[in-house]
This record gives sequence, structure tokens and C-alpha cells, in this order.
Amino acid sequence: MKRVVIFGECMVELVSTSATELKKSFAGDTYNTAVYLKRNAPGLSVSYLTAIGEDFLSNELLFAMGDEQINTDHVYRCSKRNLGLYMVRTDKYGERTFAYWRDGSAATQTLNVMTQAPDNIEMFYFSGISVAILDVEQREKLFDLIKTLRSSGCRIVFDPNYRPRLWRDQQEAQEWMDKSYQVADIAFPGGDDHLALYGHTNADDVLAHLAPFGIGEVVMKNGAVGVHIVNHQGQFIVPVQTVTNVVDTTAAGDAFNGGYLAARLSGKNVTESASFGAMVAGTVIQHPGAIIPADTLRKAVTP
Ligand code: ADP
Repeated sequence: MKRVVIFGECMVELVSTSATELKKSFAGDTYNTAVYLKRNAPGLSVSYLTAIGEDFLSNELLFAMGDEQINTDHVYRCSKRNLGLYMVRTDKYGERTFAYWRDGSAATQTLNVMTQAPDNIEMFYFSGISVAILDVEQREKLFDLIKTLRSSGCRIVFDPNYRPRLWRDQQEAQEWMDKSYQVADIAFPGGDDHLALYGHTNADDVLAHLAPFGIGEVVMKNGAVGVHIVNHQGQFIVPVQTVTNVVDTTAAGDAFNGGYLAARLSGKNVTESASFGAMVAGTVIQHPGAIIPADTLRKAVTP
């Protein structure tokens, strides 16, 4: 069985459903990818590497991971810390506003409380958010771990997922993003992220920035515009079928990545995998929330 480890933070998600009611669930960029990867490639072993607290919400998250058949062998407990939390409010025009309480969450301590580094794995996945929430010492530990994994043949996958408020400033973010691209075998740059982080206004700018890193597989997402891929065979654009009934674009990129990797790890080529990732993302954005019900996804998408 192929083993994948996904590293990051899963938070409590509170969505206001009326003036007085909140719906609780669990989400976070890398966790969303873990869920969509496992759902679309049930034969894979998908472990989530993170730290959680000892509180009841942390216990509920463990059960949620169990429901999704995500392995918790790399979930560590951090006493005196809690899960991060975010809240989403949608106004009457459908505009969503997010508020976060994640500073000092248990996940910010993952590399300090990890007792057994993952090894013998096929793939390791992390994002710019996974890096941003760590202090510099832990970032160095993360890159040491990645170096060790890479030298054992593990493929490293990176999505920048730029969130300006998690970084000291833009320059710090650029430095760590570039360091991350440097160790990536597969990268998922997003058009919006590169515009905000580097001022890139088109795919050529993004791909030119990434060229010196020698990444084997670059998969650039750009909403409904299409997916640009660069690998050893050259550069291609995979068209995306436009979704007109967009309900909520939260986790579109995460869902794409999960679907893409599920297809790649099942032996599909890059073009087939991009179409599959787009199908998963295109389904997710037609439903509210980061993680849509499993049967809703199953009815729309067949792995
Ligand atoms: P991110 O969430 O990382 O900003 P994008 O907005 O580029 O990423 O969206 C990720 C993927 O979601 C796209 O590659 C595409 O497959 C799908 N997607 C997003 N918006 C649409 C849309 N309007 N119609 C169809 N697919 C979409």
C-alpha cells in the first residue's frame, strides 16, 4: 500500500447558519486535501501529521479523521494548547467573511512534539500555511525532515497557499516559499497567490519564476481559465469546464490537489489527473463548506 503523509493544521470551522446558529466542522487547507485525496484513492494510506490539544474538540477531530479513514499515527497531543478556530459568515449578497483564532494553536508546535518522524513514505505534502504557522526553529526542522525524506526517494509536494497575515512581511513569505519550491517535486502554484506574493500577472511570469527550481511537475491552477502544466514533456494547458452555479469556492484549490494526486498515485498521466482534479474542485464549489458530504462527491465524481 502506498503511503502519503500530509502536514499542516486542521481547525474547528464554525459557519453561521442564521443570526443565532453556528454549524461546527473541521477544515484547513492541507486537511481538506487529505480528505479529497483519501476519498478518491481509497487504496492509499493517507496520514495527517499535526498536533492537537487534549480538549474535547481535539478528540472530536480525531473521530472525524477516523470517519474519513485518515490515519492518525502522526497526530501528536500538545497539552495546554487547543485547536485553532475560524468562523465564516455569509452576508445576504453571498459574500463570505472569515475570522481566525489560530495563534499559538497546538499545530504551531507540531515539530516540537513529534516523537517519530515519518519514514518509508511515497509522498510528503505541505503548504505555505504549514510553514507560516511554525517558528523559524521548527521551519528548519521541517526542511531537515524534507531533506531526509527526499534522499530516501520520497516525492515532495508543495502548494504555496499564501495567507499574508500569517507572515511577518511579504519578503519573509517569498523567502520561505522559494525555499519550499526548491525542495518540491510537484508544485501547485495558484494564479491569485502568485499575483499577491510576487506580483505575477500571468502564467508565463509564474512559470518563469519557477523554472530555476527545476521542479519536475508544475501544475498551475487558475480558476476556470485552465490548468497549466510543465513537466519533462513540455508545457500544456488542460481546459477546465466552467462551473456557472458556484456556491462557495472555499477549498477549490485544496480539492483540486487532492483529486490530482489521487489520480497521479493511481497511475494516471498529468493531463488525466488535471481533468480529474478539476472535476473534484468543480463539484466542491457547487456546495457550501470546505468539505462536502462524501456521498454528494461520490455521485458527481467517479475515481
Ligand atoms: P485556489 O483555490 O487555490 O485559489 P483556483 O481558484 O485556481 O484555486 O481554483 C482551483 C481549481 O478549482 C481550478 O483549477 C479549477 O479546477 C476549479 N475552479 C475554480 N473556479 C472554477 C470555476 N468557476 N469553474 C470551474 N472550475 C473552477
